[in-house]
Amino acid sequence: MLRTAVSPNVAWHALRAALASTVLLAVANPAAAAPQYGAWGFDLSAMDRSVQPGNDFNRYASGAWLDRTAIPADKALFTLRMTMNDAIETRLHDLMESAAAGAKPGTLEAKAGAFYRAYMDEGRIQTAGKTAIAAEIKAINDAADHTALAHLMGKSTVDFYGSIFNINEDADLKNIHRYAIYVGQAGLGLPDRDYYLKPDFAAQKAAYQTYVAQLLSLLGWKDSAASAAAVVKFETSIAEVSWTKVEQRDLDKIYNPKSRAELKALAPAFPWDIYLKGADLGAVNRVIASEVTAIPKIAAVFASTPMPVLKAWQAFTVTDNAAFYLSEPFSAARFQFRNHTLLGQPAEPVRWKRALRAVGGGDCTGDDRVDCFGNMGFGLGQIYTDHYFSPAAKSKIEALVSNVKAAMRVRLERLDWMTPATKQEALSKLDTYQIKVGYPDKPRDFGGLEIRADDLIADVRAAAAWDWRHYVNRLNKPVDRADWSMTPQTNDAYNGSLRDIVFPAGILQPPLFDPDADAAINYGGIGAVIGHELSHGFDDEGRKLDAKGELRDWWTAQDATEFSVRAKKLAAQYFSYQPVPGTHINGDLTLGENIADLGGLNVALEAYHRSLNGQAARMLDGFSGDQRVFLGWAQAWRGKAREDYVRKQVVSDPHSPRAFRVVGPTRNIDAWYAAFDVKPGDIYYVEPDQRVRIW
Ligand SMILES: [Zn+2]
Repeated sequence: MLRTAVSPNVAWHALRAALASTVLLAVANPAAAAPQYGAWGFDLSAMDRSVQPGNDFNRYASGAWLDRTAIPADKALFTLRMTMNDAIETRLHDLMESAAAGAKPGTLEAKAGAFYRAYMDEGRIQTAGKTAIAAEIKAINDAADHTALAHLMGKSTVDFYGSIFNINEDADLKNIHRYAIYVGQAGLGLPDRDYYLKPDFAAQKAAYQTYVAQLLSLLGWKDSAASAAAVVKFETSIAEVSWTKVEQRDLDKIYNPKSRAELKALAPAFPWDIYLKGADLGAVNRVIASEVTAIPKIAAVFASTPMPVLKAWQAFTVTDNAAFYLSEPFSAARFQFRNHTLLGQPAEPVRWKRALRAVGGGDCTGDDRVDCFGNMGFGLGQIYTDHYFSPAAKSKIEALVSNVKAAMRVRLERLDWMTPATKQEALSKLDTYQIKVGYPDKPRDFGGLEIRADDLIADVRAAAAWDWRHYVNRLNKPVDRADWSMTPQTNDAYNGSLRDIVFPAGILQPPLFDPDADAAINYGGIGAVIGHELSHGFDDEGRKLDAKGELRDWWTAQDATEFSVRAKKLAAQYFSYQPVPGTHINGDLTLGENIADLGGLNVALEAYHRSLNGQAARMLDGFSGDQRVFLGWAQAWRGKAREDYVRKQVVSDPHSPRAFRVVGPTRNIDAWYAAFDVKPGDIYYVEPDQRVRIW
């Protein structure tokens, strides 16, 4: 649970970002004959036609909507994607209410319903107060030495404990048929090392210290203010030696296999045996170290930090991780800091929405994973897709996927900058991709999991342990290519380590995909998303993995150089964008996503042209087919965010803020200039020889 909650495993995250780069992207209503937006799938009333498309294409397509829309108080940002989440939440709400009211005992519905009821039982949670986590706090107080604390850190895999190292299982990047354990840097309670080290985030860091003191004080921890100062100092020392998110994107650098003896030699200051034992990995003899130079330094910080500070840190971290499930003083403090201060969100979502997130669903898109919890996510997904995933939607989307894949193939064959040898490997890589749609073929087993309606904290622990057991049990088995690492109700998609491209049921709804919309709009929406995911196989990270999905350099030196010249040009464009005054996009951090956006939109446009079968596209409300593809793209990314949210996004999220996902790719595509008559002198005009052409 905690691996995906408050302190995401950054190294594993980096691998996932490389291997499972998500786009920001729910089930179309098969009964509806009219599209959800406008007469042909696009909301004309959202446009601001007083803006020249070449001066701000985002405003041209969505300016009136941006002006008339207020971000709801319980959200840090508001997007059309979020209206998809709202629809999913409404359906999940109905399902959980009826499951809670009386599902057959022992069924998956009964378990999910009990979890939901446990969260909704505010009175019981209120009465329990801090005693709900008394077991963890006692274990921390009882810890005799650093070794005992390292054991608790190992248990972060199954409990509320925090750890200065992350531990996860995924396919071995150099032997894709087996699993490996990845160990990497962790230990930070703020979203990124920049929050500790850069003056721009001084206010957030100070607020964090206040929050640490507040939770420690609620626990009755002695000297809470002084302890909080020491906790933040401890984390700052970790931040100083941690890798940046950009450094974490280099797959060659984060792949460092070590035997257990080598791991101990690498970072002797940390008691690895007891830590791995705590994670139920006592028999594991080989791990892959991610941030290999940071790991020994973090171990040294741990060894030189006095016990009282480490205990205060662990007590705070447990409380912070559990606060979402605790009584009002704890949950309110957490909301106030994590959602309000860090993201600018004024109001907490209503309790049933939080209960859904607790069970494992709801508002968990790539935009905002702050309140996104695993727990019974795959179980909830089974219940959801039993009710809300139509075979018609499945076959329509599969046809779209295969068109886009064919267009990608044509574009690869036609590339003028890549040598034939590299191109051949690229084409065979494309052919090995598996496309997964809707939900996993093999459901997760929840048979032995015990969930009670009267003990929320015990439920969270039980679900986390159940989840971790799933990974530990398969460790020595062959990699299961049918596995999913995103739940079916998720409004997102990914390109994963199993050479799979996954479109959960949750993403297949308007505006991204509407079976009743004009084809051009769907190509600009879900088509470009499919192209985006395919492109990830060839972005600055994905290109390092070969057709087998293994980390191997299959590029000629000449191709690699040519690719990086083009990628650098794209990065330079994004570095110049300021989503809020004074804050620039990090063109390196967002490079993979930006390459995928540009590649995805190009491929979608190509696929749309192919879908016309040589016929001319019709005009709709005065818009040509090409114009509608670009408008579909702009509509799919329509949204507005609070400034604090954007500031956090820019340092910690590999996706560019939305307005630039709209204008960033279009200005590099010749067809956009032709479609909207964009001319020299327009703000986003780029000379033809300066446009970035990659995929
Ligand atoms: Zn992506």
